Amino acid sequence: MKDLKKFPLKQTHLDFHTSPDIDGIGVNFSKENFQEAIKLGNLDSITVFAKCHHGVCYYPTEVGTMHPNLDFDLTGAMIDAAHEVGVRAPVYITAGWSHKDAIDHPEWVQKRKDGSMHTTENYEFDKTPDSPKKHCAWHMLCLNDGNGYTDHIYKITEEVCKRYKDIDGLFYDICVVGEVCYCESCLKGMKEMGLNPEDDEDAKRYFIIKRQAFMEKCGEIMRKYHPDATIFFNSGGADPRKKDYHHLQTHYEMEDLPTAWGGYDKFPIRAKFFAKKGKPFMGMTGKFHLDWGEFGGFKAKEALKFEIAIMAMYGASASIGDHMHPDGEMEMQTYENIGFAYDYLEEIAPYCYGGKFLSNLGVYITDDWDTNNGISKILLENQLDYDVVYNNNFADFDTVIISGKAEMDEEGLKALNSYIANGGKVLLMGDSLVKDGRFMIDTGLEYIGKPDFDCDYIVPVEKIENLPNAPMLSSFPGHKTENKDAEIYAEIITPYFSRTYRHFCGHKNTPHNKESKKMPAIAKKGNVVYMAHYMPEQYEEYGSIFNKRYFMFALNLVYSGPVLKIEGMESQGRATIIQQENRYCVNLAYASPIRKGRAEIIEDIVPIYNIKAEIKTDKNIKRVYNPLTNEELEFKQEEGKVSFVVPKLHCHTSVVVEF
Ligand SMILES: [Zn+2]
Repeated sequence: MKDLKKFPLKQTHLDFHTSPDIDGIGVNFSKENFQEAIKLGNLDSITVFAKCHHGVCYYPTEVGTMHPNLDFDLTGAMIDAAHEVGVRAPVYITAGWSHKDAIDHPEWVQKRKDGSMHTTENYEFDKTPDSPKKHCAWHMLCLNDGNGYTDHIYKITEEVCKRYKDIDGLFYDICVVGEVCYCESCLKGMKEMGLNPEDDEDAKRYFIIKRQAFMEKCGEIMRKYHPDATIFFNSGGADPRKKDYHHLQTHYEMEDLPTAWGGYDKFPIRAKFFAKKGKPFMGMTGKFHLDWGEFGGFKAKEALKFEIAIMAMYGASASIGDHMHPDGEMEMQTYENIGFAYDYLEEIAPYCYGGKFLSNLGVYITDDWDTNNGISKILLENQLDYDVVYNNNFADFDTVIISGKAEMDEEGLKALNSYIANGGKVLLMGDSLVKDGRFMIDTGLEYIGKPDFDCDYIVPVEKIENLPNAPMLSSFPGHKTENKDAEIYAEIITPYFSRTYRHFCGHKNTPHNKESKKMPAIAKKGNVVYMAHYMPEQYEEYGSIFNKRYFMFALNLVYSGPVLKIEGMESQGRATIIQQENRYCVNLAYASPIRKGRAEIIEDIVPIYNIKAEIKTDKNIKRVYNPLTNEELEFKQEEGKVSFVVPKLHCHTSVVVEF
């Protein structure tokens, strides 16, 4: 029997948002079919549902409304079936979207400032009952503690917790959407608390206080009956931008559907971020071609395998979303695909988890996630394994990248200056660490101000290898500085004018004015390199390889190089290294997602050959081998490093380096 209390490695998140207009709910459910799917999928956890977005329950309820066409306890039957084969079964309860509750109780719906109902973007009020309905069109219910709806959720929670003696965990969905609510209950509550609903900051403060209270109360109820169960509040709980809610989760489930939600590169930096919280974390993708709720849509199983391998490389467990058919029969094709990915995950797990990440390049995370993602993308594409700066641990890194209009408190600044004084290196961008019009650290430059034009051009002082030997357009213009005592590597020249209705030139950006005053674009003083442009943000938006190479040129002016150096993987290669007791584990992955229609697809996973790897180490290396093929790899050890060649990589592989 498996340990049900252990945090799972291989989970399925089973959705079941099932219309009350469909008959025969669960008629084809059987314990045997459910368990067969679990075995085929090689699962150790499956999230099952108690209440769905239609607002109906799947067990006999006194508090809510059972699905009108269900005549047995489906929730309980799934929990029992999973437990019988030693698999966890956390329970799903919808929170923010509940159609029946929104219709029966319009007063429970979240309201906008103008008094209108808060819905998802796709909800159209002007339609007749027979008009086509857009996907994902739901009312937002108000989850601010104290209104009738939160009391209803507390009662559902209590009922579920009392009904089932073995609850492994609760998963609440759609918990933090929007940041203010002006429903009657919230307006009254704000006034009682002495907050002014007209003041947006007050409204935001109230929302946070009351939504935290909602999460706390759900947790209290659950722990009364099931003290060891996990609890997670989705849509907020693992969103790095929603920091006010992170501490209320027992673990993090990082929902991310790369085919439809912005690609395959957003996961690693999020995993690095949540890894710092000291709680278990998992990636959550779907079996779907595109998105949640998609019946009959499939992702190629090789693509699923690649996604799962990436999760493992960044230390995350895995969860794959599915949506069960109304009749309760599990779709075996789905579990064959999931099993294909999870059998592989089981094989590579010993080389991915339980080690220490050895990254020596730090990224100072800010609330500007376009920049965070842009930095991550550039580093990933250069196989530079990075980590995020946490609690001012600058000293753990060779070089730290600071961007995204970063601000820093006195304590942080003290730690940063002491790091620089001790030889630590910094790449600083734009108006990051600018306070009261001055740089907070010594860059050798005087900060002048924001750019005057809508774009500008970069001219290297001396030719930079692999960059155009001509003024290079920067669509995001650089900040203005004046040189005091820095060494200048590239300069900014400006256009004749910004593009307006009064002045414009041709179709697009105005050309550079060769007579314009030059300003520093890349400057270096001591260990600090300054870049006037927010180049990673621009790369995230425009994707020019020259933006990327320019950024790498600036970084390499100070960075002494990674612990794991890779050659021959090109931009879609991903590489990580961890240290376990007496060995390093290197993980390499390669796939090329490509945009097709609305989706980012992985279709061709071509093998790549003869990847050169070099690890900085003082250890005496005894053996280098591929644990998946048992192939021994020749290696060369020189002072301070070991190097070897990985002959072939197809999708993912691991290499163990023993010392
Ligand atoms: Zn409200």
